[in-house]
Amino acid sequence: MSAPAFPPVFAGRRFAVMGLGRNGLPAAEALATMGAEVSAWDDDAASREAASRHGIHLANPLEGMLIADALILSPGIPHIFPAPHPVAARAAAQGIPILSDAELLFRAVRAAGSKAGFIGVTGTNGKSTTTALIAHILKTAGVPFAAGGNLGPAALALPLLPDAGYYVLEMSSYMLERISELRFEIAILLNLSPDHLDRHGGMEGYIAAKQRIFAQRTPQGLAVIGSDDQPSCEIAASLAPPVARISGESTADVWCESGTLCDRAGPILAMHEAFALPGTHNAQNAAAAAAVALAVGVTRPALAAAIRSYPGLPHRQQSICHAGGIEFINDSKATNADSVARALACYPRVVWIAGGIAKEGGIESLKRFFPRIAEAFLIGRDAPLFAATLAHCGVPHRIVGRLEDAVPAAYDAARARSVPVVLLSPAAASFDQFQGFPERGERFAHLARALAACPSEGKAA
Ligand code: ADP
Repeated sequence: MSAPAFPPVFAGRRFAVMGLGRNGLPAAEALATMGAEVSAWDDDAASREAASRHGIHLANPLEGMLIADALILSPGIPHIFPAPHPVAARAAAQGIPILSDAELLFRAVRAAGSKAGFIGVTGTNGKSTTTALIAHILKTAGVPFAAGGNLGPAALALPLLPDAGYYVLEMSSYMLERISELRFEIAILLNLSPDHLDRHGGMEGYIAAKQRIFAQRTPQGLAVIGSDDQPSCEIAASLAPPVARISGESTADVWCESGTLCDRAGPILAMHEAFALPGTHNAQNAAAAAAVALAVGVTRPALAAAIRSYPGLPHRQQSICHAGGIEFINDSKATNADSVARALACYPRVVWIAGGIAKEGGIESLKRFFPRIAEAFLIGRDAPLFAATLAHCGVPHRIVGRLEDAVPAAYDAARARSVPVVLLSPAAASFDQFQGFPERGERFAHLARALAACPSEGKAA
């Protein structure tokens, strides 16, 4: 049975949509289906053409007055820092509110008469994993749900849910800056570390944006907050109840200790049974998801079973296959050293594939994990930079250039050195060689599977 469509809740309303990518295009389509008059634009001609093929009305908002009840601005387009996009500046000058698609989803749901709850997930790291894990738990427990937002599908592509349902929305800091009426029954902030500072005018602005998730709670709304970093602890101390503190490593309200996920009522499950959630970072994500599940009435056995059966997201320490007893792990999403540290902490000995466009600081901060690296194979633009750091610390390594050469070479090295894991965890952006981290991860998976199908192919030329 398919979910009911939204009635024309926005009839007579006018929306301008700026940015016709992953969020903007579905937003423009959904708002039109909901009865609104929509005019849309994108600075990129190809995106405009694609939208026009979808029957979207195009109008350059900088030509003439901007006539709209609200401007829906794609998350990638700045409205304040580092400088407002001209369309955002125009909207601000005309007093037109700038909103995110999540805000419009909320308004549409309420206008359609549904009391479905909203669960918002934010934090510097772990948003997608936690969103997907909550969705998996609700699904297995038979609770009606729809999950999306930053991770996709776009908020306005989600179906109308009944009163008993929950929207699980991954909320980026940009989306949080552009909500007003949206209220969360459960608001989650996993952790805070410096990120996207240029878009928020510094750490203070970034924390202020993230913290908004708690101001947007319903009167009885639950705050779920990490307690594994200082800025989150400071926010937790200032929150009105109800609050559930979570941790991947030390006592809280829901936490993981000595490998067991527990809450104040007792143990929930041994995390080693959750094969797709390795490491203390994923224990933090599991603690957050467990706090949500218990709050919405999922039973403890159902919760434990769902965490156990969570399949994981692609490109985040994703086990691809085994070839000759060696496991290939795709962690292509790890574009900075912090994320790579999370992965390296999970494996005592690896052959490591890394490289691409390095972030500031390169791999210097990973030195404490270097003894775990039996050999490294380096690809992409900044391979020489990584090589210099590894050489300085005596880590065996080779610059191989391309993933096509790195995967078989890493496999040979793993066999020769009896290392059980080949890990792609690049510590770098992918755009020098790939469209993005998903393409890089898929290429790795393809190459690894080819080796698994024909293990003798590993011999590098
Ligand atoms: P996000 O959606 O916030 O980018 P993901 O769930 O996609 O987060 O995970 C991206 C990477 O962030 C993972 O590969 C892992 O290295 C790291 N990570 C995941 N969860 C956490 C966490 N709770 N704390 C710190 N790092 C994490």
